[in-house]
Amino acid sequence: VRTRFPPEPNGYLHIGHAKSMNMNFSLAFEKLGVSPENRETYFRYDDTNPEKESKEYIDSLRNDLTWLGWSPAKTTYSSEGFNHLHSCAVKLIMKGLAYVCFLTKAEVEQQREVAVSPDIYPGKYRNTSVEENLKLFEDMRKGKFPEGHCTLRMKMDITSPNPNMHDSMAYRIKYTAHPHVGSGWCIYPSYDFTHCIIDSLEGIDYSICTLEFETRRESYYWLLWALDLYKPRVYEMSRLNIAHTVLSKRRLLKLVDSNTVRGWDDPRMPTISGLRRRGYTKECINTFCNDIGATRNMNLVETNSPLLRSRKRLEQAARVCLADVSRRAMAVLDPVKVTLTNFTDSKMCTVPNIPTDPSKGSHDVIFTPTFYIDGADVRAEADSNFFGFAPTQLVGLKYADVKVRCDSVKVGKDGKPTEVICSVTDEVTKPKSYITWVSAVHNLPCEVRQYGHLFTVPEPSDKWEEEINAESEVVISTALVDPSAGELCDASSTDKWNSNNSFQFERIGYFVVDDDTTYDSKSGKGKIVFNSIVSLK
Ligand code: ATP
Ligand code: MG
Repeated sequence: VRTRFPPEPNGYLHIGHAKSMNMNFSLAFEKLGVSPENRETYFRYDDTNPEKESKEYIDSLRNDLTWLGWSPAKTTYSSEGFNHLHSCAVKLIMKGLAYVCFLTKAEVEQQREVAVSPDIYPGKYRNTSVEENLKLFEDMRKGKFPEGHCTLRMKMDITSPNPNMHDSMAYRIKYTAHPHVGSGWCIYPSYDFTHCIIDSLEGIDYSICTLEFETRRESYYWLLWALDLYKPRVYEMSRLNIAHTVLSKRRLLKLVDSNTVRGWDDPRMPTISGLRRRGYTKECINTFCNDIGATRNMNLVETNSPLLRSRKRLEQAARVCLADVSRRAMAVLDPVKVTLTNFTDSKMCTVPNIPTDPSKGSHDVIFTPTFYIDGADVRAEADSNFFGFAPTQLVGLKYADVKVRCDSVKVGKDGKPTEVICSVTDEVTKPKSYITWVSAVHNLPCEVRQYGHLFTVPEPSDKWEEEINAESEVVISTALVDPSAGELCDASSTDKWNSNNSFQFERIGYFVVDDDTTYDSKSGKGKIVFNSIVSLK
């Protein structure tokens, strides 16, 4: 049983494509009960639109597919079928089922509107003779007409209630070289003309697409009927949508071109490369795709607010997958200094790398009489509901086996705590909390990029460009992480493609070393940059 995954190389793949890949490479076969020996998937570049396509996109599609772990039985290009497609067009003309049309784009639109009343249909080019059409089509191919001057259209059914049957365009003139097959052509086939013919030619059993293509089923089968070709079965599934983002290459390209984001791989982007840079592993992504499954009906899997639920499931898949692979470390994003008045030693503390898996070992961090805690763990005034540092409060320090009593909290002009004075105590009372810390002597300064949603609304509207969240990236340049993280942050050893340099900063969330990191762990020079992946809960 053969399926195919046919993206157009006009942008980078996104999480919606991951769902489609999961379906075409795995889930569809499982639904059909096809054993692994009897299944295969083709990876097809649906590349019939040279103006919007490029080598960069062609390469990125292949990289992302491979990274997600899929191995196609064959890689094909629709463009490699241009000769075959051209001969199909000629055959169609000879059968009297295609004609060269000189109507302008606006006239075609207008024609569509009135097509339901054939009496006023201006079908003047529909009745051109086969010989004349063959000559005109050949003239198109030879470059005798300017761009947009005419098209080849299929002679379908102008009275059909389905607008896709209103003489769909088969070929158009474009004086643009093709990124894969070069400059041999100045006419290019349309998606509608190409897709079904290539599906048929490749012997695809199940042609799976998203629901909005349902109305194109009729034209898909019409053309295969007209050319007397093998007919694959078409199956539609619902399109994936996720709250607070957009899943359309056209819109994502606009975000890149307008420098709203750092590029296609910006950690806020829903692209595969963005998710990878954000610290999502392929397991996170595939777990999510399996979890949402594939159905024609969104409501079956996701009752109220499918958008929000998809978003939550994606984040939950990340937490589940990262919990067992992310090395623990202590970090403070907003450092406030703590000084111990009755402790002068330093102390070695052992921290498990992954608490649920002792085989992953441990690392040491040094506790010193001065250290930093996070601003969120300090208050100038005691409060019975607050268990962090506040005057008179008893607090435990995680992994240090040290309990301290908070003696005073100094505040700045703005009322914000600036320093905490404490003393170590050996009283038996159990502290209500164990706070994470980073030594003031042994630490690594780092930049932390905290990411929020790209859009302020769950479902970006037609005015989506006005709904971009201006605070989707917050850069914290004065964060500190314990030095045990250093080696994993080394710029030469971080290889996002093969491993995952993610950390759980205890009590904060999951973070990953960003590509902008230049840190060299031997000399201690260079900059460390972390991206937030997802919060703990
Ligand atoms: P875009 O608008 O992002 O360009 P597309 O459907 O035009 O999307 P293609 O590159 O043509 O993108 O799609 C390749 C395959 O991925 C198609 O089979 C398409 O149906 C599927 N696909 C694209 N987006 C989604 C999505 N959001 N959910 C599920 N499948 C998708
Ligand atoms: Mg598209």
